[in-house]
Amino acid sequence: ESAVNHNFIRPIIQEDIDSGRIAGKVVTRFPPEPNGYLHIGHAKSICLNFGLAKEFGGDCHLRFDDTNPAKEEQEYIEAIMEDVQWLGFQWAGDVRYASSYFEQFYDWAIHLIKQGKAYVCDLTAEQASEYRGWATKPGKESPFRDRSIEENLTLLEKMKQGDFAEGFCVLRAKIDMASPNMNLRDPILYRIRKQSHHQTGDKWCIYPSYDFAHGQGDAIEGVTHSICTLEFQDHRPLYEWFIENLPVPSQPKQYEFGRLNINYTVTSKRNLKQLVDEQIVAGWNDPRMPTISGMRRRGYTAAALRAFCDGLAVAKTDGIVDIAQLEFEIRKDLNENAARAMCVLNPLKVTITNAAESVEWLEVANHPQQEAMGQRALPFTKEIFIDASDFTEDTSLSRKKFKRLVIGDYVRLRGAYVIKADDVIKDGNGEIIEVVASLVPDTVGQNPPAEMKPRGVIHWVSATEGKEVELRLYDRLFLAEAPGKATGNYLDDVNPDSLKVIKAIAEPAIVNCEPETVFQFEREGYFISDRYDHSADKPVFNLTIDLKDTSDK
Ligand code: ATP
Ligand code: MG
Ligand code: MG
Repeated sequence: ESAVNHNFIRPIIQEDIDSGRIAGKVVTRFPPEPNGYLHIGHAKSICLNFGLAKEFGGDCHLRFDDTNPAKEEQEYIEAIMEDVQWLGFQWAGDVRYASSYFEQFYDWAIHLIKQGKAYVCDLTAEQASEYRGWATKPGKESPFRDRSIEENLTLLEKMKQGDFAEGFCVLRAKIDMASPNMNLRDPILYRIRKQSHHQTGDKWCIYPSYDFAHGQGDAIEGVTHSICTLEFQDHRPLYEWFIENLPVPSQPKQYEFGRLNINYTVTSKRNLKQLVDEQIVAGWNDPRMPTISGMRRRGYTAAALRAFCDGLAVAKTDGIVDIAQLEFEIRKDLNENAARAMCVLNPLKVTITNAAESVEWLEVANHPQQEAMGQRALPFTKEIFIDASDFTEDTSLSRKKFKRLVIGDYVRLRGAYVIKADDVIKDGNGEIIEVVASLVPDTVGQNPPAEMKPRGVIHWVSATEGKEVELRLYDRLFLAEAPGKATGNYLDDVNPDSLKVIKAIAEPAIVNCEPETVFQFEREGYFISDRYDHSADKPVFNLTIDLKDTSDK
């Protein structure tokens, strides 16, 4: 499974090893903020960080970037850990939290003040933004910039003690208000937030900024290569400024790669949260969501997601990847590994006049190529269901065009007999309610006489032994390739028919499967028993994806 995709970070790491810049292990980290569930974009970052660590015999840490308690929750922490492990990765050592370094960060803030490199600033947010200027206009220095070291130490202590209201003042680094890089114009190190934190409780009422936490967290953990997405490129000089100006225990370096975007979906936690909050979907793990837990529930496999991510280039530009590329990997994996079963979505009864009165148990392979997947017992009975679309009275349709059951002609029932349609029974409105058929004896696993050549093979289920199942038929959540492009609001492109719930009849054995068992329902698609709602008493299957080639359906 070694990645051969273009990845500009790989040679950098190799060079760092060869040149001796890193003496020990390669250490990477995956640093989610616990403010939502992980999505397909995170999967790329996970595969990249854990993948590179593995490739170079190093470690990858899982670190929660939990510096903003307002939006963070324990529920997200647990979901994220579960998702990373489900994807097939295990972090080195314990789970880490930026918040467990708060004491150290605070000491480093004091260090900067003592070096004359940080100050407490009382400008309001509006004033501060005015003073900051913009890209082409140098900023102005804050009137609080020249406070004495003593005064700054006292004020920071008071901030920490909770003596000031939220927003009253901030701690800023003293760098360069004229820098063309806005991130260097005296960036904020600490804000007052009178908020409980999911890890540290009420211990702190000041919280470090992302910039003041991230690189130092990397340094504390001995991270050698801190890989993040492109929007942090302009933060890199600041990242390096902290590493240079603080007595950190190691020298991590930051690298940026392009975010993964996929068409027909959104990959931003803010948008995904809105879909959940406004109940457009049934939760973060709704099978329509591009979240890892949603894709899992949908029936996407971890192996297919890894194959997809590993096949993506790691480049210095953002890109939009075609969802078909992901679907290709899903189908490939499921075609190889999903057991076959039969389920009729739109039942039409067929009575086989010359079938035995009792149940005949047939042995059928679970997979056409994988013998190791074994066989199952399939009940054949006098009354069966086929799909209504698999029968027609129109005898003018060519054999090539309609490879199914036509009145007066032959078709093979998958794993069972060749049958012939002899007659139809209609209701008062002329609707066909039943087909009367006869079987050709001795055709299980054997060809019929040449003149009885079946038009094709169709799926079926015993009408008396089959079980009713609920099918949740999912479709894309968005109708537009770039949701929101036309109107500016991605919600305008939500597909109103992204879920249809129907009843179907399945062969009996499958209802006893465990939740999260994948099947190919022959000629219909790939399905998975629902992780939460499926039971033998109330079987529920989610449509993972349709079969690639539906052209002869
Ligand atoms: P969002 O904008 O969806 O909230 P985020 O970047 O704020 O995403 P984090 O929890 O901070 O989410 O992300 C953890 C890691 O995953 C970061 O290193 C981030 O760069 C990376 N990541 C997030 N989204 C993507 C994406 N679409 N493609 C690649 N990597 C991503
Ligand atoms: Mg982030
Ligand atoms: Mg974010």
